[in-house]
Amino acid sequence: MEKYAVIGHPIGHTMSPFIHKALFAIKGIDIEYSALDIDPSSLTEDLNGRMADLNGFNVTIPHKERIIPLLHSVDESAKKYNAVNCVKRENGKLYGCSTDAYGFLKALEANNIPLKGDVLVLGAGGAARTLAREAADNGCFVTIAVREADLDKALELKDWLTACGKDANTAALSEIDGTFDLCVNATPVGMYPHTGVSVVGAEVLKNCSAVFDAVYNPRETEFLKIANSLGLKAVGGMAMLVWQAVKAHEFWYGGTFEVSEVKEIIEAANEEMERIFYEK
Ligand code: NAP
Repeated sequence: MEKYAVIGHPIGHTMSPFIHKALFAIKGIDIEYSALDIDPSSLTEDLNGRMADLNGFNVTIPHKERIIPLLHSVDESAKKYNAVNCVKRENGKLYGCSTDAYGFLKALEANNIPLKGDVLVLGAGGAARTLAREAADNGCFVTIAVREADLDKALELKDWLTACGKDANTAALSEIDGTFDLCVNATPVGMYPHTGVSVVGAEVLKNCSAVFDAVYNPRETEFLKIANSLGLKAVGGMAMLVWQAVKAHEFWYGGTFEVSEVKEIIEAANEEMERIFYEK
């Protein structure tokens, strides 16, 4: 039986086993999928030890960058973000890729949200980097909005986009101005257990046509609640999480899935998360 896993530290209540087992089950592939807590100091040793029998694995914080030099090669998606979240073993060699950007793009596409025009990205961390770059690569004009104290980080992100040939803007969260085709929350604000808060309110969202929240727990964050109350198109982070997992199956064995199959898994993953965290 083939063996897969997600590695991270800490690994906590990861949704990866549930999502990947569901995807393998659709294909009728019998596998083992586990969550491995791998300490950064033992990553090299564990690759040849505890992880030596894995056919493939997913990678989460804090290993996404540090694993790169330990792999035989990585593809363009990983080079673009200098991060790997998916690894396969072929003929004893390890190959890496990054499926986060695909997850974001498919989450929008499957919900009929076009990635065009003016895009407001809230936050300037890892997720913001991916979401802003994908928006810019799709021809959008990106505004990166952050807390006043984080403006230097927003400028760094803007400079990276500019170096990639994309024009962008920065703003303080308190001074967001204008209308936007899409607003994406790439901050952890509103995430379990600190629910009930949104990084921006109706005064900003009323000037947006659609929203995407990278946060996937809870299913409906305060940010999404406000957007829904304004009648905007709104998508939550579970869609991105599941779609990025789907891309891993293509990378591992060429598996592809129907949109309807993926939507069912998104719903099931939301229910499982609510069962674990909210005892629903
Ligand atoms: P990160 O690298 O830590 O970046 C978070 C960003 O949000 C930083 O710019 C941070 O500023 C800012 N921020 C933090 N608290 C804030 C607050 N109270 N008000 C305004 N800005 C605040 O984290 P990340 O990896 O980008 O993840 C961000 C969120 O996206 C997390 O909830 C994560 O779970 C989610 N995510 C989801 C997916 C998915 O597949 N759905 C994928 C990736 C990430 P500082 O740097 O000053 O702290």
